[in-house]
Amino acid sequence: MELIIAGTVALDDVKTPFGEVKGALGGSATYAAYAASHFSRPGIVSVIGEDFPKQHLDMLEKRGIDLKGLKKEGKTFRWDGYYEFDMNEAKTLRTELNALENFTPKLPEAYKKAKYVFLANIDPGVQLAVLQQVKKPAWVVTDTMNFWIENKKEELMKVIKKTDTLLLNDGEARELFKTTNLVKAANEALKLGPSSVIIKKGEHGALLFTKDKHFNAPGYPLENIKDPTGCGDSFGGALIGHLASTKLHGEWNLRKAVMYGSTLASFNAEEFSLEKLKSIKKEDIEKRLKEFREMREF
Ligand code: AMP
Repeated sequence: MELIIAGTVALDDVKTPFGEVKGALGGSATYAAYAASHFSRPGIVSVIGEDFPKQHLDMLEKRGIDLKGLKKEGKTFRWDGYYEFDMNEAKTLRTELNALENFTPKLPEAYKKAKYVFLANIDPGVQLAVLQQVKKPAWVVTDTMNFWIENKKEELMKVIKKTDTLLLNDGEARELFKTTNLVKAANEALKLGPSSVIIKKGEHGALLFTKDKHFNAPGYPLENIKDPTGCGDSFGGALIGHLASTKLHGEWNLRKAVMYGSTLASFNAEEFSLEKLKSIKKEDIEKRLKEFREMREF
């Protein structure tokens, strides 16, 4: 197993100005693994409950996503959130940890040999426990969210120290490093251990910071945004999927990985749940990547 993704597999209630879904397939690992599956064959480390619909598992397996690291017990993690007209900010109404509350990940033997590890948004305690079991990872990407910054900061800092690429959105970067300035936040993050920090700015693109370089990725000018849930996870999944498929970690390839991340994130926002990610093909991804390239020429 070359690539493993630890995160949540969830049932989401989501409301946006353009519609609403209840009990829809979601979760950070789900979005990330699906986006990564356009590049590589990931395995998921997570927990679901007895109530989780089998059709979702069948769909993920059919897509080539490995589920040996997916435990089943109790009730599925649930998230209830909404977006107002500023679709860059998710507002949480309810987070039900359920099975996640006492989840101790136990990696299948094949997963311990993973070279690429995406610690997607989940309890930092789980992120640490996953990392401790992977024998010799080549590249670790970590994501998080305000919920964990506010509730488990100490453990989160330990995870960041062991991370190669840290992903944060702009609000999280400001909150974690207590500064309004994103450049300062990124430099603080680089001092902790990661060799690259990516700050996602929703529909406005993403910034990649490495020791002495800075890359600014544009956002895709989408006219039809229905639901941004999972954009950050799709970004991260595509990013690590590209790294795992190329095995190159230099700044130049990180830039390309960021652009694949932006591409998958932009597709994801076009429909609720995973519907858009399920409908696109490699040609659609390459076409949008080309449009991104052309957008920056002048
Ligand atoms: P994103 O929009 O990329 O930040 O991620 C949205 C997904 O994160 C949703 O499908 C939720 O199920 C999941 N999620 C929400 N809150 C949490 C949390 N505290 N920890 C992990 N995953 C979460």
